[in-house]
Amino acid sequence: MNSVLVIGGGIAGLYTALELRRSDTHVTVLAKGTLAESSTWHAQGGIAAVLPGPHAGVGSPTGHGQDSVESHVADTIAAGAGHCDEPAVRILCSEAAAHIERLGALGTLFDRTADGSLAVGREAAHAASRILHIGGDATGEGIAAPLIRAARKDPGISVQEHSFAADLATRNGEVTGVVVLRHGEQQMVPADAVVLASGGAGGIFQHSTNPSVATGDGVAAAWRAGAAVADLEFFQFHPTALNVPGHPLISEAVRGEGAVLLDAAGRRFMTDYHPGGELAPRDVVSRSIALHLARTGGQEVFLDATSLGSDYLARRFPTLTAVTGQAGFDWTRDLLPVVPAAHYWMGGVWTDTHGRTSLPGLYAVGEVARTGVHGANRLASNSLLEGLVFGARAAAALAAGPAEWPTVEADAVELADGPMQAVRGDVQRVMSEHVSLVREDSGLRIAAKQLAEWRSAEGSRAEREDANLLLCSRLMAAAAFRRRESRGAHYRVDFPAMTEGPGSPTILRSAS
Ligand SMILES: Cc1cc2nc3c(=O)[nH]c(=O)nc-3n(C[C@H](O)[C@H](O)[C@H](O)COP(=O)(O)OP(=O)(O)OC[C@H]3O[C@@H](n4cnc5c(N)ncnc54)[C@H](O)[C@@H]3O)c2cc1C
Repeated sequence: MNSVLVIGGGIAGLYTALELRRSDTHVTVLAKGTLAESSTWHAQGGIAAVLPGPHAGVGSPTGHGQDSVESHVADTIAAGAGHCDEPAVRILCSEAAAHIERLGALGTLFDRTADGSLAVGREAAHAASRILHIGGDATGEGIAAPLIRAARKDPGISVQEHSFAADLATRNGEVTGVVVLRHGEQQMVPADAVVLASGGAGGIFQHSTNPSVATGDGVAAAWRAGAAVADLEFFQFHPTALNVPGHPLISEAVRGEGAVLLDAAGRRFMTDYHPGGELAPRDVVSRSIALHLARTGGQEVFLDATSLGSDYLARRFPTLTAVTGQAGFDWTRDLLPVVPAAHYWMGGVWTDTHGRTSLPGLYAVGEVARTGVHGANRLASNSLLEGLVFGARAAAALAAGPAEWPTVEADAVELADGPMQAVRGDVQRVMSEHVSLVREDSGLRIAAKQLAEWRSAEGSRAEREDANLLLCSRLMAAAAFRRRESRGAHYRVDFPAMTEGPGSPTILRSAS
């Protein structure tokens, strides 16, 4: 392989590029903003990995003790609500340690305990302490910055910022390059292979924790080029994003430490919905807040952390103390207005376990890909890991050269534009009302009808992003309509039960 074009400069794109350099391939990395504009940069809690030797931990304060890849596999599959591809999960968990070591070699400074060993924390739904972190809750920046430095330093990697990948170019059913929009000019950039690493699509919804670059461009471009997409109905919402522009996350750890959720009347309501109260699983808390707001007519609920005390809050949550302060709240005295916010898309471009999509020459890694590791609900701290493990596997497959290309059965879907110009805010409103945490047949029909009335435009970057959000919204609504059960992050009021047995993926491709 002589030249590979990677779309995206988050963990998945940069790590794939650096791994590709092992085989001396020339790599171009495109990012539509700067390299720091990514979900990766904003990741907080950490990255999950079972490490060999004394670092493996089961809940002891230092984390030392016993953990196993098997346990990480089991936790991932349990979180995924019977919908994970087990072989992919095994790969994710068993190959994790090698990539953590490589990150260290690239200059990532994971937090360490007083005795110098790697510090591992525990997160909800993990049976053991296996979450590596940096700067406490600044893991994303701590990983992204050394990757960016390494990529910039490598003469075989050309980093092109402010370069918007508008579409994939194909010939005879194979990807041959990318149509790039740069400083208002459109140009075709040829490549021997293209790796999509363009992240998620939180911009579909009114409230999202994602940065503004997350507009589903990768899924949309892959769809237009004819690639299959899978499990788009599964979108994870974080229960407690501060209800201010940008929706910064208020970590689950705050509830873990004793903060409670109150409604506008000042009443604690979570136990009405789940015996676990505020500590119920992430999807349950998000859904309960949405149901409670629908019942009580409010716009937001409130997180009360005042009982934790000012000293403790400042010491335990320095970043959040700063973030809430910047937003004008003194959380030692004030209630924080919070809403559930779109956080992570489990679905994406269908791939095999080597990052190969159904379209020859096109690979997908990171959040844009649906590898099957997250099933219907992502286990916390597994997504950064996915970018590493499957980025490296895609790079290895590219270096190995031609191989039999995978195929997948997919339902053909016909989508057509309507007469009205789409406005991003309108799309977000329809999706937030009918295709978010709580769904039902009638709402999904309303959404599909409304989304079909809009048309997308080609032109500026903003117009193309709007078009991509509209396309991803239509696809998500179509997938949600097909799944007549509730599973993981997908909840249907009209089909509240999960069907027996493992779930089957919703795999779609364009009929045209
Ligand atoms: C606030 C927050 C906290 C999180 N915390 C954690 C955590 O603690 N642990 C964890 O595992 N996960 C966490 N996640 C999820 C995780 O950060 C992401 O899933 C992961 O970083 C995705 O990496 P990526 O490389 O696939 O995409 P990203 O990091 O989002 O990078 C996408 C890249 O693609 C570029 N791009 C997009 N479209 C185009 C285009 N059309 N043309 C050119 N470039 C394009 C962007 O500019 C960007 O460079 C968190 C997410 C958020 C938002």
